[in-house]
Amino acid sequence: MAKIFCIANQKGGVGKTTTTVNLAAGLAQLNQRVLLVDLDPQGNATMGAGINKAELKSSIYEVLLGMADVKTARVSSEVGKFDVLPANRELAGAEVEMVELDNREKRLKDALAAVDAEYDFMLIDCPPALSMLTLNGLCAAHGVIIPMQCEYYALEGLSDLVNTIKKVHAKLNPDLKIIGLLRVMFDPRMTLSQQVSSQLEQHFGDKVFKTIIPRNVRLAEAPSYGMPGINFDPASKGAQAYLAFGAEMVERIKAV
Ligand code: ATP
Ligand code: MG
Repeated sequence: MAKIFCIANQKGGVGKTTTTVNLAAGLAQLNQRVLLVDLDPQGNATMGAGINKAELKSSIYEVLLGMADVKTARVSSEVGKFDVLPANRELAGAEVEMVELDNREKRLKDALAAVDAEYDFMLIDCPPALSMLTLNGLCAAHGVIIPMQCEYYALEGLSDLVNTIKKVHAKLNPDLKIIGLLRVMFDPRMTLSQQVSSQLEQHFGDKVFKTIIPRNVRLAEAPSYGMPGINFDPASKGAQAYLAFGAEMVERIKAV
């Protein structure tokens, strides 16, 4: 059975997609079978995995609306060595079109069930909103990975996200839990980063991943080459950190 994780944070630009793509590539290097699910109409994870979102035959949009199945819509990231259920801007329409459908929060969960046996991990890259798309991600998942920057406002949005996860857990998906908070784009020279980081540890204890992802320009450059940072520059500090995070995840899910 695949372990399914959402990478979520309703704040924009906090490193969700970078985390999803590099964790997928890191887990693939650890011989795990991975499906990356792009649940964001921006299609950044699709592009970052080296797949041209403008040339998709079908995408997660068709899957959510029941016009294609995952087996037809998925493509493989040759460079990352994982599969991708890709997205493009068409997906923005799904939000409205799903309103008419039965069981609309569980469309993704039902679709992913068809390929469950083929993967060890499914990683869902959520859009920066607590929307119907994100709700579909949360209903499909066993757990949530929350990337966050160690800055003052990061903590404010966190309580909204935690409350949403609690509600989904209570009403829609009893399996759902917070797997952990991942500190990303970390700059150890900033006192504020250090302060927020230790506040997080005090407040959330072992829900804070041990691995810290540093700010590293190679991770930011990689998407423009259509490659995960892990494959683009394996020796870089960012790649090494995401590889370590993959190993930490493999360990941590043994306890999930
Ligand atoms: P959105 O909310 O728009 O989906 P996101 O949360 O998915 O954004 P990313 O797209 O992963 O965030 O990252 C935002 C920007 O920060 C990107 O330009 C990315 O390349 C850059 N970035 C992410 N992580 C790092 C890092 N560790 N070091 C340097 N740059 C990073
Ligand atoms: Mg993103």
